[in-house]
Amino acid sequence: MTQIQVLSENLSNQIAAGEVIERPASVVKELAENAIDAQAQHIDILVEDAGIKSIRVIDDGNGIPETEALKAFERHATSKITSRHDLFRINSLGFRGEALPSIASVSDVVLKTATADQDAGKLVHIRGGEVQEETGTTARKGTDITVNDVFYNTPARLKYLKSQSTELSKIVDVVNRLALSHPDVSFHLVHQKKELLRTSGNGELQQVVAAVYGIQQARKMIAFSAEDDDFKINGLTSLPELTRANRSYISLIINGRYIKNYQLSNAVVKGYGSKLMVGRFPISVLEIEMDPLLIDVNVHPQKHEVRLSKETELVALIENTIYNRIAQENLVPNAYQNY
Ligand code: ADP
Ligand code: MG
Repeated sequence: MTQIQVLSENLSNQIAAGEVIERPASVVKELAENAIDAQAQHIDILVEDAGIKSIRVIDDGNGIPETEALKAFERHATSKITSRHDLFRINSLGFRGEALPSIASVSDVVLKTATADQDAGKLVHIRGGEVQEETGTTARKGTDITVNDVFYNTPARLKYLKSQSTELSKIVDVVNRLALSHPDVSFHLVHQKKELLRTSGNGELQQVVAAVYGIQQARKMIAFSAEDDDFKINGLTSLPELTRANRSYISLIINGRYIKNYQLSNAVVKGYGSKLMVGRFPISVLEIEMDPLLIDVNVHPQKHEVRLSKETELVALIENTIYNRIAQENLVPNAYQNY
């Protein structure tokens, strides 16, 4: 008989990493979300070899107190929720306390961090879940974290990665959506010294759209907004003449979190009525604000999927708002003429 044993912390972190950290883009997402949660104004993301060689995220957020830096790498260690009550009122992007331990169990991580009220910062170096070094360091307020050699000790995961261009496009997609979700934060993404995205952080969504999709596209987007008792929505959506071949250009953001939800993106499309050619979809950024009680983000480790308690009402609000806004533009009836 084999004995039943509790897995070592490192092994259980590697298992969790299988869910949370699928590819380099997941590392970028988790680190950048931590920076946003720490109230950063500027986030620099520097990537080498599509993130497989290294990912460095530098923020000017609150930093981690010296005494807590190592604790941040413990499983289920989080400063974001403390009780069951909080779990139903999530207003941060993270809360599961799984990202850092997961990442550190499958890569080589160097964290440098300092808070405003500290003279010196803290440096922690962990490789494959083992602490290599923990020391003081000079630092400015904020966090600078470098993840090298991701999946070096999980060859199956490494082998499963796609080409560098595919992995890089997934990173770009993650950063684009974060930038669209946070126009008030300045993002700077660099791959192999080449700048792929820069946003100013001045709060103007249209400028972020221009940085992500291009200036010409941003000019063809119109603003909408609406609210009812439960929801407040606003955003930008393209004129029917500006379309794409799939729905992935519709970004849904609920309480600052980019999410995927077929019903909601379909509501945007349906708002165009017959003005879109079959098989064509708008470019849209839809920001939704609601009471955190109405949304359950604890459905999936990567938190892309959420459960909404008043989805039908929200769908109707979105569809009607887009419909009315598009109607206002008084468009030529045949929107297909450009094709
Ligand atoms: P979660 O984000 O779910 O809390 P993480 O493993 O991503 O879990 O991070 C653990 C903790 O480390 C966070 O709760 C936060 O206190 C701290 N932390 C991580 N990254 C940063 C950062 N860039 N700035 C400030 N604190 C951070
Ligand atoms: Mg996190």
